[in-house]
Amino acid sequence: MDPIVARNRTDLIKARGDGSVALVPTMGALHEGHRSLIRAARSRADHVVVSIFVNPLQFGPGEDFSRYPRTFEADLEVCRAEGVEVVFAPAAEDMYHPDRQVSLRSGEMGRVVEGAVRPGHFDGMLTVVLKLFNLVQPDLAVFGQKDAQQLALIRRMVADLDVPVEIVGAPTVREPDGLALSSRNRYLSPADREVALALSRALRAGAAESVPSRVIAAAREVLEAAAPELALDYVVLVDPATFAEVAEPYTGEAVLAVAGRVGTTRLIDNAVLSF
Ligand code: AMP
Repeated sequence: MDPIVARNRTDLIKARGDGSVALVPTMGALHEGHRSLIRAARSRADHVVVSIFVNPLQFGPGEDFSRYPRTFEADLEVCRAEGVEVVFAPAAEDMYHPDRQVSLRSGEMGRVVEGAVRPGHFDGMLTVVLKLFNLVQPDLAVFGQKDAQQLALIRRMVADLDVPVEIVGAPTVREPDGLALSSRNRYLSPADREVALALSRALRAGAAESVPSRVIAAAREVLEAAAPELALDYVVLVDPATFAEVAEPYTGEAVLAVAGRVGTTRLIDNAVLSF
């Protein structure tokens, strides 16, 4: 069956059936990573809603908002193939009233690591996610571990603001050679793609070490070998819940997070390690 395409709150209310609802928020240009989230949603709820919205609020000046891939017809086909009941694809004008005043602040946790490179990004992300929760009113929502800091911040928002939605994290889907799937991968030339592989290779090199400082050093060595074609933004080992950098000695889980630019394409990746 074709998914119902909802453009606004009224459409969403009309499309609502009985039973539990799982929401998968996306910016479209759907790939196998998104499909795995849709399947995780499918296995946990009676109805799946996929939102497709390139959120202007989470892009900074000079970032790729205008050239972000928009492939709505192909996305609809993916949703149809996955048996998605509702695709929520609002227009930016309907999401953001010109008079709006109130938005969310992600706090210190949103200013470190990815937030330090993209000021305001996580404030914009949390604002749209809370709006999507309020519009769709899902029982649960599925997010990828690929965007580990985003997932941690959404969990934090739900806890801090008592948002009645269960948050489910889903593992990162990769190409056979290790490259994490991303809507932005389509911008990579074959040569760029080779360079981009340094990110996942660095994660594997880090994961082979057992002490935080050596984890970082091993990952950094791989990333620096890919310079200058890979312009490194960061390589950090952080607490999965707070994104504060871990200090030695450390026991427990930590996220090894890397980010860099290949040409004009910015890529991020991470791995969860245990100490
Ligand atoms: P995006 O459309 O890039 O904003 O991503 C929408 C959702 O898909 C987010 O929860 C992402 O973390 C998730 N996602 C993106 N890439 C992957 C991937 N390779 N594996 C699993 N989930 C992903």
